[in-house]
Order: sequence, then C-alpha cells, then structure tokens
Amino acid sequence: MNKKLIIAVDGYSSCGKSTFAKAIARELNYIFIDSGAMYRAVTLYCMRKGYIDRSTVKEDKINNSMADINIRFRYNPDIEEHETYLNGENVEEEIRQVEVSSLVSIISKIRSVRERLVEMQREIGIMKSIVMDGRDIGTVVFPDADIKIFMTASPEIRAERRYKELIGKGVKVNYDEVLNNISERDTIDSGREISPLKKAEDAYILDNSEMTVNQQMVWFRDILSKKSGDEGRN
Ligand code: C5P
Repeated sequence: MNKKLIIAVDGYSSCGKSTFAKAIARELNYIFIDSGAMYRAVTLYCMRKGYIDRSTVKEDKINNSMADINIRFRYNPDIEEHETYLNGENVEEEIRQVEVSSLVSIISKIRSVRERLVEMQREIGIMKSIVMDGRDIGTVVFPDADIKIFMTASPEIRAERRYKELIGKGVKVNYDEVLNNISERDTIDSGREISPLKKAEDAYILDNSEMTVNQQMVWFRDILSKKSGDEGRN
C-alpha cells in the first residue's frame, strides 16, 4: 500500500502494544511513537519537582508546568530504537521504573497534561506514516486513523510478561506487585473522566494472550490487505 497511514494501537497495560506497534513500524518502515512514554516523562518531571508522591498531587503546580515540559524522541542507532528525551535529557530508562509506573495513571487523569500531550501527538502525526500506541489514540488523538487496533490479554499473562521484562532489565520487583500495578492502572485508565481507555467503535480487537509476535503480524497483514482492497475499490 502506497498511501501513508496512521495506525492507532490502544489497549490495556502491558498487553505488548509497544512490541506489536514496533513490529508493524519496522515492517512498513513507519515511525513508532510510544505515547505512554510521554505520560511517563511528565510523571518523572513532576516527581523530581516534588509535585507528586504517593500521598499528594499538586495539580496547580502541574498545570503551570506544562508549558515548560518538552518531550522528544530520538533515534539511537546502537540499539536501533527511539528513546525518550525530557527537556533534552535521555530519560528512557528512568521512566520505566516502578515508581513512575505507580504514579503515571494519576498524572494522566489531569486535563492540562492530556491537552498538552494530545497536542504534541497530533503534531507528530502530521507527517503520517506512523504507528502510535496508547490508550486514547483511536478514540481521541486520531479519531480518523486509518487502522485502529484494540489489544487485550488476560491480566495474569500481562503481569507475567511485564514481570519477566522488568527482571530481565535488572529491576527488583515481585510478581504480585506487578499484577497489582497493572490492575490498578487499568481501573484508573478505564474509569477516568477525560479520554478513558475504551475500544473505538471501528477498532479491530486483538486478544494476544496465546499469540506470538509473529502470529500477531500474520493477523495484522490480513487487516492491512483488507484495507488495501477497500482502498482499491473506493
Ligand atoms: O503505555 P504505558 O503503559 O507506558 O502507559 C503508561 C500510562 O500512561 C498508562 O497507564 C496511562 O495512565 C497513561 N497513558 C494515557 N494515554 C495514552 C498513553 C498512556 O493515559 N495515550
């Protein structure tokens, strides 16, 4: 397909959205954007400033800070991946820490945070040929996205995958902690007032509980060829 597409991949925490979205981007030679990394970077900024901890959220301070926060993705050829930069600093590793994961859903409920990040995400989307993953990409950020995918998998399988990933990176966690964090984020993300996590009406559902990435790509190619067929007929 020659047309430049916007592909939206939404779904629950730790469903393998990024892995799948990256595989799609690699195959189509598209740019992959991890919108969750942007919410994580804002969370890290607020933690460092003392605007959020487990007991307090200084919403006024956060609202006033949004103009000072600049988030960019830069390609690192050594690992062949994009990394997240917060005001010029590479924060890719720090934003994956458990502490950030435990506070990010509170930050992402805040209107000023969402408005600013959605604006940045749409700016990135102007160039098209992107795959963006997140929670509200197909519903709010790009409601006219060409292909929308909604991913899900059982909470236990998601927790196990995330646990292995964190342990592999040398992060000290236990399985129950990971499972609790996933369930808690799903509850907050699905229940929030602004842009809650939900399936777009026109999204394809992918339950990847029992699927490898290769199998998911076979599924995706089928969707893509249907889309190309539709485009050809229109
Ligand atoms: O994708 P990831 O799990 O890294 O996202 C971290 C958090 O960022 C989510 O749990 C959610 O609270 C928030 N998020 C969001 N909207 C997006 C992407 C992420 O609210 N589009």
